[in-house]
Amino acid sequence: MRRKVRGKKAARLETRENEPLSRWTTLGVGGDAARFVTIESEDELLEELSRAESAGDSVLVLGGGSNLVVGARVEGTVIRIATRGVRIEMDDTHANVIVAAGESWDALVEEAVAEGLAGIECLSGIPGLVGATPIQNVGAYGQDVSATIAHVRAYDRRARAVVTLSTRRAVSVIARA
Ligand SMILES: Cc1cc2nc3c(=O)[nH]c(=O)nc-3n(C[C@H](O)[C@H](O)[C@H](O)COP(=O)(O)OP(=O)(O)OC[C@H]3O[C@@H](n4cnc5c(N)ncnc54)[C@H](O)[C@@H]3O)c2cc1C
Repeated sequence: MRRKVRGKKAARLETRENEPLSRWTTLGVGGDAARFVTIESEDELLEELSRAESAGDSVLVLGGGSNLVVGARVEGTVIRIATRGVRIEMDDTHANVIVAAGESWDALVEEAVAEGLAGIECLSGIPGLVGATPIQNVGAYGQDVSATIAHVRAYDRRARAVVTLSTRRAVSVIARA
């Protein structure tokens, strides 16, 4: 088993008021966010979600802003995901790639290809961050991330718990719907 770990130490929580969202969206449009917080760790995310809930703020999660159209001012909290870290574990037949939501998707594809891994190579050049890819099942040229995602670690805001969604569970949920 070979392991490769890349990461970045978390910096302090960065909070801004009345931040123009046009700075953070690919389309370059959007009003201000009343509160704009950049989180670099899971603990920071949970802390900010808890604060927003206590304050009765709505929450908008922001990745790379490449699939967001923001209109007027956002009166709640925008949480920009900036967690970092990539861990690749592989043996002769399989590879597990564990990636933080705030990593660049395109850089991940490049890294996977450089490691000789197959499965996401057709998704090169798609803008945005890793965490957004399961939200819409990013795809191109006959490939989509649902074929290679095994688990998604998420925070369930209704249950107020960190959960691990497996693709098997996701499929059974869709089948029951
Ligand atoms: C030029 C261009 C080409 C594109 N080509 C393709 C393509 O070929 N195939 C394709 O599928 N898409 C394509 N897209 C769409 C876009 O790249 C994807 O939707 C991408 O996954 C968005 O990532 P993002 O980080 O920018 O997300 P954002 O735009 O920041 O967010 C998109 C949505 O996901 C939510 N979200 C983001 N991150 C998280 C998170 N960590 N946890 C929970 N929710 C989150 C946001 O709240 C929002 O609802 C393209 C976009 C552009 C601008």
